[in-house]
Amino acid sequence: MKTAKEKIAYLRGLLEGGNLSGKDSGDRVLWDHLLDILDDLAVAINALSANQDELGEYVEAIDSDLMELEEEVYGDADDDEDWVEVECPECGEPVTFEEGFLYDDDVQVTCPECGGVVHQGENFQDYDELFDYEDEDDEDEE
Ligand SMILES: [Zn+2]
Repeated sequence: MKTAKEKIAYLRGLLEGGNLSGKDSGDRVLWDHLLDILDDLAVAINALSANQDELGEYVEAIDSDLMELEEEVYGDADDDEDWVEVECPECGEPVTFEEGFLYDDDVQVTCPECGGVVHQGENFQDYDELFDYEDEDDEDEE
């Protein structure tokens, strides 16, 4: 079976060769061919449309799966990169804040539980305490 494109090319050849010029029989052949080609195109477009719907659903499913995978694979790494978790030196609650605050001299981070100072910028000269509190905790437990 010829493709629609081949049929069109054949029809164009007949027209350009003058084989369909004039007369009722010529018109009849022309319309037969044209409608035949339109049938083929309609069937082809229907099939394409159905395939596209199927493909769209499939891609959506893949996209959703991929998002879940990315969250699992990269989620933790991103958290480590952008967020810092510090134990509150006052009450021991874990306090999470943006890593950028560590390098901001004027920022003070306080514990949401007790209001204790979890982190202060270098200007407050308490910067070292942020890294010493763990030792203090260990001493308290022992
Ligand atoms: Zn606290």
